This record gives sequence, structure tokens and C-alpha cells, in this order.
Amino acid sequence: MYTLRLGHLYPDLMNLYGDRGNVIALERRCRWRGIRLEIVPLGLGDELDPEAFDLLFMGGGQDREQRAIFRDLHKRKGDALREAVRRGVVVLAICGAFQLLGHYYRTHQGDTIPGLGIFDAWTEAGPRRMIGNVVARMAIADLNFTLVGFENHSGRTYLGPGCRPLARVLVGYGNNGEDGTEGAVYENAVGTYLHGSLLPKNPQLADYLLGKALSRRYPGARLSPLDDRLEQLAHRVMVQRCMSDGRARSWSR
Ligand code: GLN
Repeated sequence: MYTLRLGHLYPDLMNLYGDRGNVIALERRCRWRGIRLEIVPLGLGDELDPEAFDLLFMGGGQDREQRAIFRDLHKRKGDALREAVRRGVVVLAICGAFQLLGHYYRTHQGDTIPGLGIFDAWTEAGPRRMIGNVVARMAIADLNFTLVGFENHSGRTYLGPGCRPLARVLVGYGNNGEDGTEGAVYENAVGTYLHGSLLPKNPQLADYLLGKALSRRYPGARLSPLDDRLEQLAHRVMVQRCMSDGRARSWSR
């Protein structure tokens, strides 16, 4: 039986709009295939061993939580997280966590919360919050599927040349509401603004990440297919609903 280990960073502090559902989705999709997913919470004060994990997950948090964890993130986990990314560990970081894996986040108050610089990206708080449902098309080569999710952030994230966008926005704001990008990818690390939860709504992304983790740990191993008809139906309904709402929104402007 295959076993994978997932490190869940700050599960009590970084968790918005059901972000924990991503971990549950990964665990279930493993279990349905007979793969064991061990989940290890990594809170304030815990050290991170860069070799111990196949996947690392950190959910979103508002400025208050970001301030509460960033020192610990730098001191106890930063080097290990960079090392893990260098070794190809799969990382998923949502919203406030995505911001903290970039170079910095400048808040409304004008203070700068330094990030880990894993993504060549930076974030500055803007005058309005970007709230609503999102539809985006994956921008990774060979992956031709849409993502649906929910965003709520005032930070505007801009990508430098050292990382690529995860997806292109069809409805919603994405990274900054200006350049049509959503999220970032560097090695096997993915950052995104999409809550939702993201992975239950987007099983293809869940399997993309799981597949990477599995084949890295067990070369040659492949994920067996699951019956995702219900999930795909739910996904399609959301895409259609958001696309018609999105058109209605742009007509009324
Ligand atoms: N502080 C961030 C922002 O509003 C993160 C919000 C979030 O994680 N939803 O931009």
C-alpha cells in the first residue's frame, strides 16, 4: 500500500472559507484508491523537516493571522520550505498563504509583511476588495481544464518572470483584477486565490497535485481513475452559472 505524508501548516490559524476541505479532499481521493495519506499539523513553534513530506498545504488567513504567523514561518519553516520546493515537494498555498510565499505583502496600513520569496511575486493591498466567484482556465501546458472557486482579498498580486500563472481568469478578478492572471506555479508549488474549497470543486487539480506527489515518492506509480461524474457535473453547473452571471455583470457596468 502506498503512503503519502501531508504537512498542514498552521491549520488553526490559516483556514478561511473551508480551506481545510482541500486536505479532506486529498485524503478521500487517496483513500478511495487505497493510498494512505498521513496528515501532520505544523503549528507555531513546530520545525519543518524538508524530507518528511510529499505535500504541504497552507490555507488562507486575513492580515491579522498573516501577522501572527510570519515570524514563525520565517524562523522555523522558511529554509525547510524552500528546500522542500527545490526537491519537488508539492505545495498548495491559498490566498493569504500564497501572499506569504511571495516576496512581500504590503498592507493597507502601509507595513510590509516579508514573504519567503518562493514565488517571484509581490502583493500590495488595494482600495477595494475583490470578492466573488471565479472561473479560470488552467495555464499549465497540457492541462486543459477550468477551475472554479471563490475569492475574497484586497491584496493585488503581481508575478515576476520567475514564476508562471496557474490559470487565466474568465470570470472574477484573480491575482490583481488587471492582468487576467490567477495564482502562480513554481516547480511543484502552487499558489492561488481560490477558496471554495478549491480541490473538492476541482477534482482534476486535486489529482494533478496528488499524481505529482505519488510519482515523486514512488517512481512509475500512477493514480487510478475515480468516478468523478457527480463532481464534474457540479463543476460544470458552477462554470455555467458564473459565466452567465459574469456576462450579466459586465453588461450592467
Ligand atoms: N490579507 C489578504 C487580503 O485580503 C488575505 C485574505 C485571504 O486570505 N482571504 O488580501
